[in-house]
Order: sequence, then structure tokens, then C-alpha cells
Amino acid sequence: MTQTKGKLSNWTKKLVIFIAFLTTITLIFSTILGYKRFSEVFNEHFSSPLYHLRTISEATNKNVCVKLLEEVNAKYKYLGNRNYSDNEVCQIVDAVKFSGTIKSKLTSPVITSCITAVQLSRWLNELGAKSVEHIGSYNCRKIRNSQKLSEHSFGKAIDISKLDDSVLKDHWNDSGAKGEKLRKAAKLACKYFTNVLTPDSNSLHKDHFHFDNKAGLYTRWHYWFGCK
Ligand SMILES: [Zn+2]
Repeated sequence: MTQTKGKLSNWTKKLVIFIAFLTTITLIFSTILGYKRFSEVFNEHFSSPLYHLRTISEATNKNVCVKLLEEVNAKYKYLGNRNYSDNEVCQIVDAVKFSGTIKSKLTSPVITSCITAVQLSRWLNELGAKSVEHIGSYNCRKIRNSQKLSEHSFGKAIDISKLDDSVLKDHWNDSGAKGEKLRKAAKLACKYFTNVLTPDSNSLHKDHFHFDNKAGLYTRWHYWFGCK
């Protein structure tokens, strides 16, 4: 009896500590971000990391991959697992040849992982761009100035240089409609990709967006602090 009571109070203690922890985190974030921004992030994106992880883990077999691609009106050819490099690590799991969606067309098809094709389609469906120019997805290489492999090595990243008539290297800081379209596209990408790099991120990205689907929660920091 005493033991059960002891256990219960132990759990109660843990629950109180957990609630206090959540409250502290909420207060810290509200203070840093401002309440308005905090509630915006909370409402729009709180569930995103779990959502991302779920979709990433789901899209690892042909049936699920194809079902997801059909749902988002993607234009694709399923290729299966592929490795176009001589490095055995650089494999694309569930590769697809992706050429856009019913409404948005890539200027040339790209071979990418299933999950990246799905998230690109979702982003394009919401954005409504008709034409997308890219500078590639799969590329077995390290991140520049780093020893880590880039997500390009797994076909989980894409570099985009132009949306309709908005060119990254020319219009990113444009105050008119062309610049507006690019900035809106980048912000929206934070909803579908775990990592979003723009000309504001660093000089390596002055002429293209880099979007990737690296699995992980920490990349949401991009949305909260870097990706506006
Ligand atoms: Zn890139």
C-alpha cells in the first residue's frame, strides 16, 4: 500500500516537473520571440517536426511512396533504390524521376528521393508557381567547408534558382512582385522542408534556394530564428 502510494507520488512529482519544464520553455520562447510570433509558430508549426519525421519514415517503401505521390498530383517515374556514385553510402532510397505536378513544371526532370518529391509537390501545390528551374538534387558530395556529407548525397535536397520569372540571383532583394514571390516561397518551404537556405543564409546560396529533408527536429530553428 505504502509502496503504491510512494510510486504514485513519484509519478506526480515527475508530472509536476514536466509541466514546470513546459511552462518554462513556453515562457522563454514567448519572451524571445514575442507572444504574437510565438502563438503564430505554435499554431502553424508546432506539429511539423513530428509530421516531417512521420512522413520521412513512411516514404520508405514503394507502395507508400507511390500513394503519397499520387495524393499530391506529382508527375514522376518510380525508380526504386539507386546509387549513381562509386561511394556505397550515397544511396537514394526510393528514388523517383520527378518532373513536377499537374500545375507546376520543373524545367528539366530531377532524380530525387521519394520524400523530397512528395514535399516538393506539397510546396508547389501551395505556392502555385508554374515553372521551376533547379540546379540539381543528387550529388554525392560533402557540405562545402565541412566534412559531413550533404543531403544531396541521398537525393534528399534540391537547389532551386528560378520560379516563374523570379530569378534568385537578381530578384531576392527586389521590393516588387518578383522579390515578393521568392520570399514567400522561402517562408512556405519552411513548412515542408527541415532545412531551408536562401541568399540571406550565406554567400554560397546567393543564387539559389537549398531545401532538404534531413530527419531531425533541430532544423526547425531555421523557421523560428532564421527562416522568415
Ligand atoms: Zn543544395
